[in-house]
Amino acid sequence: MADDHSYTDHDTYSFGTRAVHGTRVPPPAERPISAPIFQSSTFAFDNAERYANALSRPGQGYSYTRYENPTTAQLEATMANLEGGAHGLVTASGMGAISSVLLSLLHSGDHVVLQQSLYGGTYSLVTGLARTFGIECSFVDPSDVDAVRAAIKPTTRVLYAETISNPTLEVADLPALGAVARDAHISLVVDNTVASPYLCRPIEHGAQVVIHSATKYLGGHSDVVSGVAVFTDAEQHRAAWKAMLDLGPSPDPFASWLVLRGIKTLPIRMRQHCLVARAVAEWLERHPKVERVYWPGLPNHPSHAVARRILSGNSGLLSFDLRGGREAGRRFTEAARLASLAPSLGGVETLLSHPASTTHRQLSAEALAQAGIGEGLIRVSIGLEEPEDIVADFEQALEIA
Ligand code: PLP
Repeated sequence: MADDHSYTDHDTYSFGTRAVHGTRVPPPAERPISAPIFQSSTFAFDNAERYANALSRPGQGYSYTRYENPTTAQLEATMANLEGGAHGLVTASGMGAISSVLLSLLHSGDHVVLQQSLYGGTYSLVTGLARTFGIECSFVDPSDVDAVRAAIKPTTRVLYAETISNPTLEVADLPALGAVARDAHISLVVDNTVASPYLCRPIEHGAQVVIHSATKYLGGHSDVVSGVAVFTDAEQHRAAWKAMLDLGPSPDPFASWLVLRGIKTLPIRMRQHCLVARAVAEWLERHPKVERVYWPGLPNHPSHAVARRILSGNSGLLSFDLRGGREAGRRFTEAARLASLAPSLGGVETLLSHPASTTHRQLSAEALAQAGIGEGLIRVSIGLEEPEDIVADFEQALEIA
């Protein structure tokens, strides 16, 4: 029995052996309130058949943490529950989830239709690695449902969208995209990172697979990099699990635990992010140095009507165009004191980015405009500070800009 190996008694074993094996105590009869962290890379079996089964399919036992881990399994089950799906897969990053899903659903000669305002890492994956594997991609405006339908070919296998896009916060009409995917017998895959399952559950609108960068709102504290995919179909889940094993972006148990801890306060944080974002968006809209504010909760945002239909809040990400272009944008982000100039979103601290002077600095004004990004566009991930303090910080930074 495996347990016999756990109790290295004093009379039988030498000091060195007892130091290696330690003295194990039985698992507690009382249920821990916080999920235990199973920080073990490998698990012992008392039976070779069970070992072989655990290697062949998910959900058959724990063999090796690149395959499955009990702490990670708890996060997978929690996310499947919150998204209304059947199976979860946790990865080492959001890109780990996106690449495992896309490279398992798509094969050489297949075609994928994606929304044009796509997260940069996903764009790089489908125009780089996926193309190297012979996977073809087309980009469409997801608000033009006829164009989406027209882009589908006999080889199309996947329609890919983001619930809320970045940085202009367009909201995808998921019920309409779900209907297109259903009619074409293809899978709708949705990156739900910016909404979180608290504000939107894409499976309810026809998605087969939902993806998150758990680094963002799920983790919520800018202290972990993690990703999740939730599936409705067992075979699609198994195929993505297999892709993850082969590609290697498996999660560390401690990272899974941090995300589990973050999720406990997701509803409270999301409600507050939405409230603070509304206060800041409405204040920015009235400021003379601000040309335009992008936040789907504002009635003049092009996605306002869709947002009211499919979101139960408008999230904490917003953008605005600053008069004065690239230089003004750079000066604003450098002048802010409370808000930090940093990548990522969804944490408790307010973060700023200015694509034209950082991530997109090589792009000319024309190329930026084509990507839908103004030279003075500032993206704000609203944190959980009091709105009056964020407004005061922006006021003094706008003076300098
Ligand atoms: N999807 C969206 C919408 C993102 O914003 C990001 C990261 O910024 C990712 C996916 C990738 O996630 P990660 O950085 O956790 O790999």
